[in-house]
Amino acid sequence: MEDPRRATPRTDAVLADPRVRAASGRLGDTLVKRHVATVLDRCRAGEVSPADVVDEALRSLPAAATSLRPVLNATGVVVHTNLGRAPLSAAAVEAVRLASGATDVELDLATGQRDRRGRGALAALAAAVPEAGGVHVVNNGAAALALVTCALAPGREVVVSRGELVEIGDGFRIPELLVSLGARLREVGTTNRVRLSDYADAVGDETAFVLKVHPSNFVVSGFTADVPVAALATLPVPVVADIGSGLLRPHPRLPDEPSAAAALADGADLVTASGDKLLGGPQAGLMLGKADLVEALRRHPFARALRVDKLTLAALEATLTGPTPPVAAALVADRGALLARAERVAADVLAAVPDAPVEAVASVGAVGGGGAPGVDLPSAAVSLPERYAVALRTGEVPVVGRVHQGRLLLDLLALDPADDPRLASAVVAAMDTGTD
Ligand SMILES: *Cc1c(COP(=O)(O)O)cnc(C)c1O
Repeated sequence: MEDPRRATPRTDAVLADPRVRAASGRLGDTLVKRHVATVLDRCRAGEVSPADVVDEALRSLPAAATSLRPVLNATGVVVHTNLGRAPLSAAAVEAVRLASGATDVELDLATGQRDRRGRGALAALAAAVPEAGGVHVVNNGAAALALVTCALAPGREVVVSRGELVEIGDGFRIPELLVSLGARLREVGTTNRVRLSDYADAVGDETAFVLKVHPSNFVVSGFTADVPVAALATLPVPVVADIGSGLLRPHPRLPDEPSAAAALADGADLVTASGDKLLGGPQAGLMLGKADLVEALRRHPFARALRVDKLTLAALEATLTGPTPPVAAALVADRGALLARAERVAADVLAAVPDAPVEAVASVGAVGGGGAPGVDLPSAAVSLPERYAVALRTGEVPVVGRVHQGRLLLDLLALDPADDPRLASAVVAAMDTGTD
């Protein structure tokens, strides 16, 4: 047998291959060279035949110049934090593509004068929530809270219920965010109960605003009481409602989830929310409220440090004005339709692997990602033995499901129907990898 070390092609020769050069033009030299080097190492180790080096290097290259990989979200969690929260709609993706070059984000093409940045997105947000006198958009929900704190509360008090001192995720806590910006917390009530009189007793000359935080990732049940925005609005200080999830209007399937429109109608001076949770758009912090307050926030020096990118503005506008985004579609999905999809996927798998241990089952999905905790969403899944979880997650098209009672459920609630055939192929591939 030939010594693989001697037969291994030279790096220069591989890089000079027209297909490899084309890949370099698309993905960059550094990335392509790294992949070629890895394949050449495998060739020297006898794992790849010299004749296959170019094909194998091309096969190993990512589809785009990013190490982020597209994943099939089969978790049944509609807004999955670790999978990037809301998937963008096709309309939003197209808007991002259009806006990615030079664009009139701050220019009035008719007059040639500077224009208000992101006018279209802001107008779309204002039109979606006519209850708001003014709207502004920053980088994320936390940035929205940071801006209002910086503008109103340094050295002053923010009055907040002890039941609403929320940790958002990854160790970040809203009370610590406020304190880090120079506000003093004035905690009222207890973990489970707070009354309007608790707030009234705490409000005074030192109060910057009362903050109402939606407990968006946990539920407290039993002997509990909180004070709604409408009651807080009777206090002689501004009320800021951090509604979290970004529902603009009340949603029939999520009766306990606050919306921007309802909070404003109830008298909140300002509502803050995320753009990439239930609104189903890009990461953004939405601020809606009294016109003069929003204008003051927009003009505050710190606002510049929280400014959103043109791509965000483009995606947000398309989310607000375009076809129903995937998150909104999942919230109203019909279990019968999901079950039919699951049966189809299971049938496709069985057609390729006749004795595959798969079946379609009814399942229960969740909103996830800081929204509607405790709400069950009717769904359906392809069920298979738990032992396939790793093979599916590490396959060519990574699939993330969830393990429930010893079974791996590949839930269709949060999966684009157009990806169903890819899900079936991924399951077939996982069965082939010999995990069985
Ligand atoms: C998610 C959330 C935040 C933080 O928003 P980001 O967009 O993640 O910065 C703040 N408050 C509440 C109530 C939330 O649910």
